[in-house]
Amino acid sequence: MPETPKHDITVIGAGIVGICCALELAASGRSVRVIDRDGPAEGTSSGNAGVISPWSCVPQSLPEQWKRIPRWTLSKEGPVALRWGYLPTLLPWLGRFLASAQVSRIGSIADAILALNHNCPGLYRTLLRDTGQESLIQDSSYIHVFRDKLQADPAQLQWVLRRERGVPLEFVSGDEVREIEPALSSDYQAAVLILDQARTLNPARLGQVLAQRAQNQGVVFARAHVQELVPGEPGSFGVRTEQGMMMSKQVILASGAWSARLLHPLGVRIPLESERGYHTVFTSPGVTLNNSILDGDGKFAVSSMEMGLRCAGTAEFAGLDAQPDYRRAKVIAQWARRMLPKLNTGVVSEWMGSRPSTPDSLPCIGPVPGQAGLFAAFGHGHLGLTQAPMTGRLAAAMVCDKPSPINITPYRLDRF
Ligand SMILES: Cc1cc2nc3c(=O)[nH]c(=O)nc-3n(C[C@H](O)[C@H](O)[C@H](O)COP(=O)(O)OP(=O)(O)OC[C@H]3O[C@@H](n4cnc5c(N)ncnc54)[C@H](O)[C@@H]3O)c2cc1C
Repeated sequence: MPETPKHDITVIGAGIVGICCALELAASGRSVRVIDRDGPAEGTSSGNAGVISPWSCVPQSLPEQWKRIPRWTLSKEGPVALRWGYLPTLLPWLGRFLASAQVSRIGSIADAILALNHNCPGLYRTLLRDTGQESLIQDSSYIHVFRDKLQADPAQLQWVLRRERGVPLEFVSGDEVREIEPALSSDYQAAVLILDQARTLNPARLGQVLAQRAQNQGVVFARAHVQELVPGEPGSFGVRTEQGMMMSKQVILASGAWSARLLHPLGVRIPLESERGYHTVFTSPGVTLNNSILDGDGKFAVSSMEMGLRCAGTAEFAGLDAQPDYRRAKVIAQWARRMLPKLNTGVVSEWMGSRPSTPDSLPCIGPVPGQAGLFAAFGHGHLGLTQAPMTGRLAAAMVCDKPSPINITPYRLDRF
């Protein structure tokens, strides 16, 4: 027998997105249950690079980029890896990814990314207020460093897109960036500082502190594996787990890279890829960075965190279920040694996580078409940590029929 709804809303997924949704819904007076097969912020949201990036607005797919993909994927040290057996499955997504690079589309995509990032450091600080853990969020610049000066040319498309949108940038020489970050190698010839950003000192702990706050506000966290979404009578929606059916009035699907799989049996097809990324943490690094730093060639970001120096990034396409290939983490470690010549490389830990990536770099937020009571909040790709607090606000607005803080049209599911 299905239970009668005990909760107004079930959130599937206790990653940073689901946690922020639960917090905002509880603040709007709804009774909320979060279901996850693991504990809060133990998945992709635990191992990321910690960059909280109001100004990241450049889509992943850009014109002319396709020319670089073969070189990137064929080099063992390249920032993109592909398991060749997975290519036939990936092709439709890849086709859409390349199509979203049209010049006519990238400006509006950049605007929609920026809207979702808006004031993310401030929103996190509001969520953390009075927890005693406010120092988990630190002011920071996001420094992109380059061996080739050309990449820091303000006329390059990525900087044009940012400059057109008023992003606070400073273009500096290699020597100037080493005054800010003395640990950096003399290989770097130029850098771009993206100002007024933030970073977290521990993404997992940030999620866990916020989950605890949600619990204090009455949110129930349940450990269960969601097997199926089951539409119910009007005013109720079911979630089948190995512990039985759980009913609520509404459901928010925030299960990251696994979300499309749950929608598929309902006939809703969303092109969502697992864009796998890796990290290496040097636990006694012997060097400290003052900001988040992105290596423009290796495509990984480095930040001093509570657990050591975390170097995280790159992309691997192998599907949701493939085993991690930790050679990818070792490639990041090699790049990091070159970036920071005095790095103590003794003890390391390695990790792999699945970015939930759509082909147009925008998440899916909004009602699921044809499924009354079911809402989406997934697909944040490279920017889930950044965009989670605004997504939480959007979720609360759409579920509670309140005015939305931003226009959600660009994130609708029926764009696919
Ligand atoms: C290497 C790397 C570096 C990154 N760096 C940054 C960064 O610096 N800044 C930034 O903004 N973003 C960054 N990201 C992206 C960011 O980490 C993700 O976008 C974000 O974590 C996604 O959060 P989520 O809550 O949607 O998904 P997740 O954290 O993956 O949470 C989804 C949850 O759903 C649960 N779940 C899934 N299916 C089921 C099921 N059937 N039943 C029960 N539970 C289920 C999972 O257990 C999981 O806990 C990075 C990602 C990677 C991989």
